Amino acid sequence: SNQESQESCLFCNIIAGNIPSSKVYEDDLVYAFNDIHPQAKVHVLIVPKVHVANVVQLADHDASLLAHIVHVANQIAQDAYHGQFRLVFNTGEDAGQTVFHAHAHVLTGEVLDE
Ligand code: 5GP
Ligand code: ZN
Repeated sequence: SNQESQESCLFCNIIAGNIPSSKVYEDDLVYAFNDIHPQAKVHVLIVPKVHVANVVQLADHDASLLAHIVHVANQIAQDAYHGQFRLVFNTGEDAGQTVFHAHAHVLTGEVLDE
């Protein structure tokens, strides 16, 4: 819990409950909630509770936590649909990352366009 995570990080504040969100799943390691601007019938964000900036830092910090996120994504897609889903980690501004706390987009609930 560095300065960023305590003061200004949007997803740290959502995890802490300082900003409301629509929770889908939570355990000791991750928090999952519905994206405020869904790009599929089901669009869930899975965020590690530890503050790391992106998926590369997450893999360096704890590879098993990245594997856990894949497992949680599958479970969400099993519950919401039939276990087929798209898992996206935008990494860097040029790739469309706007929140610099690692997060997986889980897109499912329908047949997805390309
Ligand atoms: P990125 O563009 O960084 O990969 O993804 C950030 C995502 O966070 C976007 O899909 C955006 O819609 C979502 N988002 C931004 N602010 C909020 C918020 O306050 N609440 C929720 N639930 N989602 C948010
Ligand atoms: Zn954070």
